[in-house]
Amino acid sequence: MAVAEFVMSFSIDAAELDIPCPRCGFFNEVTIKQARTRDVVICRGCKRNIQLDDYMNQVRTAERQVRETISALTDSLGSLLTIDIKL
Ligand SMILES: [Zn+2]
Repeated sequence: MAVAEFVMSFSIDAAELDIPCPRCGFFNEVTIKQARTRDVVICRGCKRNIQLDDYMNQVRTAERQVRETISALTDSLGSLLTIDIKL
């Protein structure tokens, strides 16, 4: 597995996005993994449960942004990242 793929596979699930509470509008930080698995989080504004069911578009957007960021980073690092990690 190349370093870039290695970094990417970790970073995307761990990346965070802010989703507005459907009830009070408070923005809550959730990880992409939580949104993808349709987790339930507790709103920090109104303390109610938010079912992360309707956020797939935001997940896809965030994933694309993470990929683009990592891609730009690895491009700029260039030959520094030629070592492959064997797993
Ligand atoms: Zn709320």
